[in-house]
Parts: sequence; C-alpha cells; structure tokens
Amino acid sequence: MGIQRREFLKIAGAAGCALAAGGTRRAGAAAVSDVELNGMLLDSTKCIGCRACEEACNAANALPKPEVSFSSEQVFDRTRDTAPGAFTVVNRFANPKEPEKPIFVRKQCNHCNQPACATACLVKALEKTPEGPVIYNKDRCMGCRYCMVSCPFDVPKYEYDSAMPYVRKCVFCHERVKRGEQPACSEACPEGATLFGKRRELMEIARQRIYRNPDRYHPRIYGEHEAGGTAWLFLSSVPFEQVGFRGDIGTKSYPEMTSGFLYAVPHIFILWPTFLFGLSYLSKRSTKEDGHGEE
Ligand code: SF4
Ligand code: SF4
Repeated sequence: MGIQRREFLKIAGAAGCALAAGGTRRAGAAAVSDVELNGMLLDSTKCIGCRACEEACNAANALPKPEVSFSSEQVFDRTRDTAPGAFTVVNRFANPKEPEKPIFVRKQCNHCNQPACATACLVKALEKTPEGPVIYNKDRCMGCRYCMVSCPFDVPKYEYDSAMPYVRKCVFCHERVKRGEQPACSEACPEGATLFGKRRELMEIARQRIYRNPDRYHPRIYGEHEAGGTAWLFLSSVPFEQVGFRGDIGTKSYPEMTSGFLYAVPHIFILWPTFLFGLSYLSKRSTKEDGHGEE
C-alpha cells in the first residue's frame, strides 16, 4: 500500500507537470493537419434506411448483436442515439415535401476537424489523426468522461454496464483506412448514400449536387463549418433541424470556445483530473496484479 501511495503521488506530480505544459499539447490535438483529411458525405436524399451501414459497422467492430434485427423496421418507431454497442444509427424522419418518402439520417462521430473530445481528454486517449479519424486508446483512458461532456454532438458513450468500462464511439474504421480500404459502412451502402473520400473533394461533390438540383437539396452542407468543420458532411432535402441535427452549434471550434473556461478553473482542470488519473492507474494496476496472483 505504501508503494502504491508513493506511486500515486509520483503520477499525480507527473500529470500536473504534463498539464502545466498542456497548452502546447492541446493546441497540437486541435491543430488542423497538413495532410489532406479524409471525410464522409452522407446524402440523406439517397438513403433508403436499409441499415446495411449499421450492420457492417457492427461486424467491423465486433459489437454485440442488437436486440432488434438489422432487417426490422421496428427500430424506426423511435429516434435512437449511438450507444456502446451501436457506433452508428439510422433514424427516420417525416418528409414534409413528400410524406410517402420518409427521410433517413445517420448519426455517428462526426470526426471534428478540431475535436472538443480530444482537447478535453487530459491523457490523450482521444486523438485526431493526420488522416482525419478521431481515434481512441482505451489503455490511456482514465474514465473521467470529459470527452462525453465536451462533445457538441453528444457522441461518445460510456459502458456503464461493464465491469471494465470504456468510452465507445466510431473511430472511422481507422485501421481499414490506414490499409487503403474505405470504412465498412460506406463500403456496405448499396445506394452510395455514404460516400468516403477526401473532405475537399466531397465538399465539391456536395456543392455540385446542391447547385444542379436546387429543388432536391436544402442549400447547406452540415459539417462544412459546424464546430469549426467536421470530417462528416451531410446533405438534406429539408432544414437540418427538422431531421435531428443541432442548429445551435455555431462555427467556432469547441476547443477555442472552452479553453478560456478551462484555464480559468484551475482546481477542476488540474487537481481533479490528476486525482482521477492516479486512481485509474492504481485500479488498473491492482486489477493486473490480482490477475497474475502477485502479492
Ligand atoms: S463528434 Fe464528438 S466525439 Fe466525434 S470528434 Fe467531434 S467532439 Fe469528438
Ligand atoms: S447503408 Fe446507405 S442506404 Fe442503407 S441505411 Fe446506411 S446510409 Fe442509408
């Protein structure tokens, strides 16, 4: 126990130092990369609500089988949110223009250009990669859930029911993308409603679609500017607020907006996370020791 206490203080001190130098690191996490970012264009006017994307995501991430099968339309009876076992969900909305043709819209991590989750994460468990995906390293996570509070899109979810809980969210099939493949969801989409590519090119495609079909599209690309811009871009036939999107996100990146507040609250920002990090380290260590039967 004496050793554990000493180690806790050492870690707490180290974490405090890391925080003192945190301005640079946080800026790094939020900086826009030189490498051209990947993106995804979700054209809800093409989506037929087949949920092939959900099924492919489930398989690619080895997520538990859902209670209601992927072929059932029963899930559309209520608006669903992402969950630890569902990184992407398709929801159905009424279509005021064509009532017989409902609008289907996906929700998943939007992989913000300057992600608030990564900025809020004091141990760098969430990280914006130069290729675009915002990835998660569960071994670093201390379970503080700052990422959940900070995400403007309410995406990261916590495994409250698990004995070893982690934060879960879409990571843009980062491993597949690194191998030169596209994410499982866009590969599975039979309608081309989910399009993978370079964000810049997808922006161009989206603009062209709006320009060529002004009757079909609402003249706005959601994700172009929201929260400083996101890797996921959305097209819709109706204003986005009518199909479950937040209309009050603004165009400033969240790290920009929150850093002033965080620096102004040193007790929350420095002492509490340091304490949690120490506790997390100790609990992981003691779990490991139990597992190996050491004293
Ligand atoms: S949508 Fe939320 S979880 Fe995803 S990158 Fe942005 S802030 Fe992070
Ligand atoms: S796979 Fe494509 S068409 Fe099917 S629900 Fe997903 S986005 Fe829509």
